[in-house]
Amino acid sequence: MAGALACVLTAHLEAGVVLLYHHVDEDTPAITSIAPDQFNRHLDIIEAEGFTVLPLDELVKRSMATSNGSEKSDEKIVAITFDDAYRSIYTTAFPNLQARSWPFTIFVATNLIEAKNPHYLTWAQLTEMSMHGATIANHTSSHTHMIRRLETETTDQWKGRMTKELLTAKRLLVKHGLDSNLFAYPYGEYDEETLNLVADLKMIGFGQQSGAIGPHSNPLLLPRYPLAGIYVGETAFRDKLRSLPLPVLHPEVEPTVSDNLKPVLELSFLEDTINLSRLTCYGPGGLMALSETHSLKVLATPTKAVSVGRTRYNCTLPKANRFYWFSQLWIRKENDGSWYDEP
Ligand SMILES: [Zn+2]
Repeated sequence: MAGALACVLTAHLEAGVVLLYHHVDEDTPAITSIAPDQFNRHLDIIEAEGFTVLPLDELVKRSMATSNGSEKSDEKIVAITFDDAYRSIYTTAFPNLQARSWPFTIFVATNLIEAKNPHYLTWAQLTEMSMHGATIANHTSSHTHMIRRLETETTDQWKGRMTKELLTAKRLLVKHGLDSNLFAYPYGEYDEETLNLVADLKMIGFGQQSGAIGPHSNPLLLPRYPLAGIYVGETAFRDKLRSLPLPVLHPEVEPTVSDNLKPVLELSFLEDTINLSRLTCYGPGGLMALSETHSLKVLATPTKAVSVGRTRYNCTLPKANRFYWFSQLWIRKENDGSWYDEP
């Protein structure tokens, strides 16, 4: 079995890379912003590296397709996404994307558009962009922290509240002729119940964890590379653009940590031809300790506890001039059990 899978995976090098931006603006918070010059530099690199920019749904379809490899092309594919529908997407990013005739996706929390907040796009701008290659997709109605239950809220009540978040946003998008089954979790936060809810609504879910999409990715939790603040440099951008999905079974991990603050990540490799000696994982405290339990299973343990808030373990493995890439999110509440403030 492992041998057959190895064959499939070796043949399948078409990786779907999804880029995630928020503001394209010099005057907005660095943690969610890229300067316009730097954004244009990213577009130049995408072109120079020979990538085809696809609509997000098509990129998902192509990178998750399993085949015997024979009809796979070597085409390098990427999709561009923006979360939160900030005004600079229209004023700064859109003219440059339109000049290249490149498609892109905007994940919209619809209440912010309905409120006519001047920092956000208008329905007219969204509609105009949709006529020029933009997909307008669902990011809940209120940009809520989906995994946070209200006090005394039952699971069913929570489910009802969250379903309403997604369906209210969907109804408004449909009303403006902007339907899509693509969904992005606000803050990239999820838990098992949240993934189930997105599955029930037959939507494709995107997180904010790094990595490339491949046939073994979880369609409820597809990776994207957040590109903002200190993570916009050109060398790192090229590595991300060229990255490949680490050939592991998608781990069924509940990201919320409580008792064990140094959660061990178990990676089950599907490819026995891969040289695991060059695998490196970074987590709290830096380089993580790796132990191979048997030939295809690796346990990654951090040297420090995960901090309050969101933390990611990032694992990479070189492959010629590219990297296999996988990232796992962890979420830790405050010590008193309350939720952390969002910066
Ligand atoms: Zn968001």
